[in-house]
Amino acid sequence: MRPTGKLHLGHLVGALDNWSALQDQYDCFYFVADWHALTSDYADTSGIVESAYDMVADWIAAGLDPDRSTIFVQSLVPEHAELYLLLSMTVPIPWLERVPTYKEQMDQLSEKDLSTLGFLGYPLLQTADIIIYNAQYVPVGEDQVAHLELSREIVRRYQHFFGELFVEPQPLLTKFARLPGLDNRKMSKSYGNAINIADDGETVRKKVMQMYTDPKRVRADVPGTVEGNPVFIYHDAFNPDAAEVDDLKSRYREGRVGDVEVKKKLASALNTYLDPMRARRVELLSKPAALREILHEGSRKARAVAQETMTRVRAAANLKYD
Ligand code: ADP
Repeated sequence: MRPTGKLHLGHLVGALDNWSALQDQYDCFYFVADWHALTSDYADTSGIVESAYDMVADWIAAGLDPDRSTIFVQSLVPEHAELYLLLSMTVPIPWLERVPTYKEQMDQLSEKDLSTLGFLGYPLLQTADIIIYNAQYVPVGEDQVAHLELSREIVRRYQHFFGELFVEPQPLLTKFARLPGLDNRKMSKSYGNAINIADDGETVRKKVMQMYTDPKRVRADVPGTVEGNPVFIYHDAFNPDAAEVDDLKSRYREGRVGDVEVKKKLASALNTYLDPMRARRVELLSKPAALREILHEGSRKARAVAQETMTRVRAAANLKYD
C-alpha cells in the first residue's frame, strides 16, 4: 500500500481486515510502497516518510502483527530496484502500454504528469516486489488481476532466457467490498468523502450526520430504500447489533424512523468499533523509536529473502564476479 495519506474505512473493509485474517494461514509480507508513491507524485516527496509511519500504525492497530508477518519498507530493500532493472531489459514496452489502468489513469489524472518512465514501469516494479519473495499468492481485488497476469508473463519471459528462478504469482481474490464514501461515490482520500481510522469520535459523528442517504426521502414518514443506501451499508459492515440494524431497516422501509436516529446509532456503533483501534494507534505513535524498529527489523528480514533471490538471479544472468 502506498504511503499517500490517511487510511480510511474503505482500506479497513477492502484490504486490512483481509490482510489480518490471512496471517492465520500464510507467511505474509506487507510493505510500504514508498517508491510507488513517487510514480504519480514525483516532485513532492515531503510527506512520504511521515505517512509511512502513520500508515503502519494504522495497519498494526487494525490487526497486522509484526511478530507473525513481515512488515517492511520497499526502499529499505533496494534489491527490488535491481530486480526491476534486470527484468526491464526483457520486457517489451507495448506490454506495459497495454495495461488497462495505464491509459485509464492517464485520462483520469490529467492534472498529473504521468508521461514518465517511472509511471509506465510501475506494473514491472510491482512484479519485482512480488517475485523477489517467491510469493505464491497476492491478495488483490478484481481490478488487479490483469496486473498479476502481466507479472506471470514477465516471469515466463525472463525464465525463457535465464531458466527457472521465480514462482509465478497467483491472485488470492478479496471479496471486494467497495465501500461508498459520505457522498455515495467510492470512499477515497482524493474525493474528501472518507472517514479516517484516525478521526476522533466527534469528527466521526459530524461526518455521519452529513452522509448521503435515500434522496427520495424528504420526511421521516416517507418509506425509504435500504438497499444500496450507504448508511445501511455501514450499519451492516460496522454495527455488531444485528437486532438493532434489523429494527432500523424495517422502520426505515415503513417510514417510521428519521434519518437522524439511524445516523446517530451508526455514529455510536462506528465509534465503538474504532475506539480500540484509536487507542492502539495513539499508543504506537507515542513510541516512535519502537515503531521505527518494527519497520527496520521487518525490512532486515525481508532483505535477507530478497538478497537470497538476487544471488540466484545474478548467477543466472552471468553477473557473478567472485
Ligand atoms: P493505492 O493508492 O495504494 O492503490 P488506495 O488508497 O487507492 O491505494 O487503496 C489501497 C487498497 O485499499 C486498495 O487496493 C483497496 O483494496 C482498498 N480500498 C481503498 N479504498 C477502498 C474502498 N472505498 N472500498 C474498499 N476498498 C478500498
